[in-house]
Amino acid sequence: MKADLLNDPVFGMAAEQFDRVADFLELDEQVRERCKWPKRLITVSLPVTMDDGRTEVFFGHRVQHHLSRGPVKGGLRFHPSVNIGEVAALAMWMNWKCALMGLPFGGGKGGITCDPRTMSPREQERLTRRFAQEISQFIGPEVDVMAPDVGTTSQHMAWILDTYSTREGRFVPEVITGKPVQLQGSEGRTQATGHGVAFLAARALNKLGIPISKATAVVQGFGNVGSYAVSTMTDYGMKVQGVSDITGAIWNDDGIDPKALREHVAKTGGVAGFPDADAIDPDALLLQKCDVLVPAALERVITKDNAPKLKCRILAEAANGPTTPEADTIIENRGDIFLLPDILCNAGGVTVSYFEWVQNLQRFSWDKKEVLSKLETKLNEAFERLLSFTKKKKCSHRLGALALGVDTVANVKKTRGLFP
Ligand code: GLU
Repeated sequence: MKADLLNDPVFGMAAEQFDRVADFLELDEQVRERCKWPKRLITVSLPVTMDDGRTEVFFGHRVQHHLSRGPVKGGLRFHPSVNIGEVAALAMWMNWKCALMGLPFGGGKGGITCDPRTMSPREQERLTRRFAQEISQFIGPEVDVMAPDVGTTSQHMAWILDTYSTREGRFVPEVITGKPVQLQGSEGRTQATGHGVAFLAARALNKLGIPISKATAVVQGFGNVGSYAVSTMTDYGMKVQGVSDITGAIWNDDGIDPKALREHVAKTGGVAGFPDADAIDPDALLLQKCDVLVPAALERVITKDNAPKLKCRILAEAANGPTTPEADTIIENRGDIFLLPDILCNAGGVTVSYFEWVQNLQRFSWDKKEVLSKLETKLNEAFERLLSFTKKKKCSHRLGALALGVDTVANVKKTRGLFP
């Protein structure tokens, strides 16, 4: 099993990062092993009746990295490249993210290997409900609380809520977060991740002495995270000059209007062909001069090949695992890029998910202003904690963020002891 996981490039990357941090923290061998490997890896087959009457079998995964600090928390992803190794890596990162943010959760992640772009809403509903049914005995408000991720939305969460609640015979909103507000989802959850990315980018600009009103940005990805990062940065007065997604990349020196781009994407399915911008090569987009570069799509897009050529001042990792360890070393050695590591930069989503879970357990709700202000307080605390830690320990932001997360989990494991 260990070798199978390590053979996956994304898990291999998460494990390599972990080993570096464990050496840095001088974790003893016993705790190191317990922290590194996931507790539960669940794979289920999902037979689904397609609209044309065929039966197609999909595979779905859920990995629960640790249950030592509370229920596991993390998204459910629909994407053609999903596999168990990738899901296990993402679950591990969620673990360090929750610990870094001081949330009482372990890390989890799920994924179904499918292409939602080619599936009708009915097919997606049947697939989602079948998955919820198959894993219902492994999830629950005190065990594992899922949320949206790449390729899933609040509607998918609503179907999971309905399937789980029907099975329980009562309404259980606290089994899932990122659900629609009318089903007791939290105000502010949809924009939380993108909002957090923009907020932290602004904090980093501030530390570097760059005026926010003069700052430029480039964003790779225009899904839920990327699109809200673009609109919040624009609201702050920054100019987002370049945006890309799976359909292509676009550029406008004067900045891209997020509202018009959102409407174009809703109509055409992607950013390509946006009338108010020029087309640009998606790989070249990442290399454009800008103050803030935001990879907000998938893993491993900043590599040893493009890292030496980046021309940004701040790398705001909105995606999970966008930078390979080789690229990390290059960025560290360059010393001219302020890294906002993924487990901090995109933690806005899971933080508001935590608020949603708390509101559900209390049968109480907060308004959007309260949610976003509590979010900013938590992000700012973690940001300042990271900067003082890295200054004291003279280490990179990547190592510092992971070390703060891993150390919290390791201490819990040590204190709880090993059973039997
Ligand atoms: N999928 C998001 C993440 O990667 C959010 C997880 C959650 O809200 O539980 O952080």
